[in-house]
Amino acid sequence: MESKPAFNQIQEMPAAVLRVEDLHKYYELGETRVHALRGVSLGIERGEFVAIMGASGSGKSTFMNILGCLDRASAGRYFLEGIDVSQHDKKALALIRNQKIGFVFQGFNLLARTTALENTELPTLYTKIDNLERKKRASEALALVGLADRAQHYPSQMSGGQQQRVAIARALVNRPSILLADEPTGNLDSRTSVEILQILQDLNDKGLTIVLVTHEHDIAEFAKRVLVFRDGKIRKDDPVRDRPRAAEVLKALPTLED
Ligand code: ADP
Ligand code: MG
Repeated sequence: MESKPAFNQIQEMPAAVLRVEDLHKYYELGETRVHALRGVSLGIERGEFVAIMGASGSGKSTFMNILGCLDRASAGRYFLEGIDVSQHDKKALALIRNQKIGFVFQGFNLLARTTALENTELPTLYTKIDNLERKKRASEALALVGLADRAQHYPSQMSGGQQQRVAIARALVNRPSILLADEPTGNLDSRTSVEILQILQDLNDKGLTIVLVTHEHDIAEFAKRVLVFRDGKIRKDDPVRDRPRAAEVLKALPTLED
């Protein structure tokens, strides 16, 4: 159906999409100081699918927010596709984020009075592309998550899983090279969660690099590599052996109608 890649797959780029070196993050809370990241070093290559696990408070979201250029580390370096963004100010971070990163959160954060297509289009409003191209890209992104036929639906007319798929389409619309998802299945039942993982596996098969935070082991094993955070550090970093295919798992799961 699609011949053109739906997101950037620039092959001649250096292999590491993301590289962090000795990242630290402090939050100042009045008199106290929270040391949320305590020296995180890591490389993630193009085409990887990484799951991040760890107890609540272990620094997962802090780390994702830095990877997603939503926040800056207190110390250490961050290279995004070879560019050192550690010293970028807010404006420069926003710019690079909009070009290279798609972000999906636990809450879908869709605008209520806005259709699936318009919600998907939102990130393109900060780019220079024209209206026609905007609609085209948003339609393509919705098709990628299997919602081509729901373009004119409002969030209230869609299930939680469909709303999260719109949020994924919105994250893809600017054709990022990396998709970051912080507990994207946190509000979903188990079948719907696996459906979301099927979409993520499909996108990863097409070359998209994915980093996913989850506290569920069953979800993490759909990734290719699992990191475990504890007390602001990476304590484990292992490849997943015999990872399940979400499409296969779904066949064995009961549907809601059963
Ligand atoms: P996780 O996502 O693994 O649950 P977080 O990254 O949200 O962990 O939090 C790591 C630590 O940093 C926790 O101790 C948390 O309380 C603290 N923290 C997170 N965000 C802030 C913030 N904006 N201000 C102050 N402390 C924060
Ligand atoms: Mg978190």
